[in-house]
Amino acid sequence: MPDFHLETSDGIAMLIWDQPGRSINVMTLQGLDELQAALGSALVDPQVRGIVITSAKPDFAAGMDLNVIAGLKAASGTNPEQGLMQGFRRMHALFRQIELAQKPVIAALPGTALGIGLELALACHHIVAADNAIAKIGLPELGLGIFPGAGGSTRLVRLLGLKDAAAWLLDARLTDPVGALAAGLVQQMVPLAELLPTARALAGAGMGLPKPWDRGEPTPGGATNPGFDVLAEGAALRPMGKAPATAALIAVMRAAARSFAEGIEAETRELARVLLHPAAEASLRTAFISKSQLEKGARRPALPDQSVQRLGVLGAGMMGAGIAHVAALAGVDVVLLDATQSAADRGKAHSAKLLDAAVGKGRMPPARRDAILGRIAAVTEYGALAACDLIIEAVFEDPAVKAEVTRKAEAATPATAIFASNTSTLPIAGLARASVRPEQFVGIHFFSPVDRMALVEIIRGPLTSDRAVAKALDFARQIRKTPIVVNDARYFFANRCIVPYLNECLRLVGEGVAAALVEESCRRLGMPVGGLQLLDETSIDLGVKIAEASKAALGAAYTHDAADAVLIRLLAEGRLGRKNSKGFYDYGTDGRRAGLWDGLAVLWRQLCPQPTTQEVQDRLLLVQVIEAVRAFEEGVLSDVREGDVAAVLGWGFAPWSGGPFGWVDAVGAGQVASLCNDLAARHGPRFVAPALLRSMAEEGGRFYPA
Ligand code: NAD
Repeated sequence: MPDFHLETSDGIAMLIWDQPGRSINVMTLQGLDELQAALGSALVDPQVRGIVITSAKPDFAAGMDLNVIAGLKAASGTNPEQGLMQGFRRMHALFRQIELAQKPVIAALPGTALGIGLELALACHHIVAADNAIAKIGLPELGLGIFPGAGGSTRLVRLLGLKDAAAWLLDARLTDPVGALAAGLVQQMVPLAELLPTARALAGAGMGLPKPWDRGEPTPGGATNPGFDVLAEGAALRPMGKAPATAALIAVMRAAARSFAEGIEAETRELARVLLHPAAEASLRTAFISKSQLEKGARRPALPDQSVQRLGVLGAGMMGAGIAHVAALAGVDVVLLDATQSAADRGKAHSAKLLDAAVGKGRMPPARRDAILGRIAAVTEYGALAACDLIIEAVFEDPAVKAEVTRKAEAATPATAIFASNTSTLPIAGLARASVRPEQFVGIHFFSPVDRMALVEIIRGPLTSDRAVAKALDFARQIRKTPIVVNDARYFFANRCIVPYLNECLRLVGEGVAAALVEESCRRLGMPVGGLQLLDETSIDLGVKIAEASKAALGAAYTHDAADAVLIRLLAEGRLGRKNSKGFYDYGTDGRRAGLWDGLAVLWRQLCPQPTTQEVQDRLLLVQVIEAVRAFEEGVLSDVREGDVAAVLGWGFAPWSGGPFGWVDAVGAGQVASLCNDLAARHGPRFVAPALLRSMAEEGGRFYPA
């Protein structure tokens, strides 16, 4: 089955992208060959007046299949750079053939068009997008440590000018069709039903021929632009600026602004170079290869299929309701149990609310919503769990409450059922003591909001059997989450790394570093939100509770008093975070953040001078890296791929770096260890390089094979 079909009628050739076996198209080497062949036939066919390139799926394309890169690298044996450059030249020639065609080629985008999907559209003479509120349009490459190299960088500069193109290229910003139209990324937007008739009419009318740069028009705003120079300087300081792709992309953009041909040549040369750089290799490995290996069961014990038939969820609060929702969405029958019927019903209503929103936006037919809701039974009686083969408890974070529901559920379910806890902090070994079948007891730690967070952390307690782990992994596959399997320890893996990072943000505030500098440094690292903002979202009182519990458990070994003092002071001021509209931030009556609270600078006398952004960023990055390395050293993590995937998906660790382990490999263990030592000398022993890192530094070791 080909990826592209050609259908010609009434003088218009429809080039339809419909990759078999995938819900969304991605460009492959085979796809490029087929596109070339179909385009060639349409161009020589005298009956054809115009061409439309579209997709038979709800979306246009998600981007490039990464195997293309691997294939090109391998194609020229010992000279991967040459293989990449040859491959890119072929792609450029094909896209240029579209652009220079004497017949109009119209791109008709029914939905999402990312990466090479948008680059292909940009090579067409005119882009018409469907008015699809959930579609995403843009070039996300820089976030992955690479940049658009199928002509997209050059064409955007020539289309929008250096300064306006920067938002899409250097910020890797994504938008919906309305935003794309306003920005000039697409030229037209129509209702979905009118997409193909409109595109056909445009193709018949010779729309958009030839392109501005082929009419000799200069780059809008000029070949050099002082506004762009400022943006480029800023970009180099941002998190992604640490990736070699940023400097390369800036050079490509400047070349493109001078001349179209220079831009294309720079894309070819620079992208090949960037793709061979360790940082890009690490980020692509984590985002695509490791993630997909984990989803396909790289860490699954070899046992028969353990797919879940009927799920029991205990506790219909925020997490339980979210777990029930994603399971029902995946076609699993769910029994959702809470202490009172009203609480159980509230949990089911959460699902109804999410589904109603999808129906309201036209993303789901009402009948599907009703079928999904019909799979959730909201109950209070344990007898309703009789046919459940997996139970997940998400009751209060209290060992006594968890022990009680474990005993009741085990008495009500078949002896073969697996019992899982969604605890975020309590060791599985302790919770499993309440179980009469501790080998069937496992941790499945979801992240909030459950319907949006891609990661689940599966925790193997000391007695947990392979079958329990396989069951948890099969459930993660059913609900399309990316799983990691970790061994039992306080805070498991993700929270173990997030806590010291948030504590470092708190320590900085307590030392008198401006809160704005802390937040800016987090964002420059590539964290999705500032640490203080995250603390506000999760609430200050919860932070204090977690700190108290950790201190009680660790006793003299506890070292975070300086961080806790900041939280406790804020709590004493009655500032609980977003939930009472005052925390590190102030909030307007509409609930929106209205800037950092200026009282922070009164409570903590501001340092003068302030530390450099680099110093603050180094502290925030290194606390996470050190904790991740310790978790690996201690055997909580047994596979660095899991650590990197969890870091990027679970808490947004600098995605351009491929995660903490990929980052150490890219920078070099020696350099990281010496940065640790510098920070330890200035800020204390929490920055001392773990033994594993020190020995890697001495021996030139790496986490991944070179
Ligand atoms: P929540 O307070 O929103 O919900 C807990 C629910 O459990 C409530 O509906 C409550 O009525 C119910 N419940 C309490 N005791 C019960 C009992 N004996 N029988 C039946 N139902 C009972 O809490 P949450 O935020 O959903 O957290 C639940 C669990 O998930 C906790 O262990 C928490 O640590 C963990 N967790 C929370 C998050 C998060 O971000 N909130 C993330 C990961 C894990």
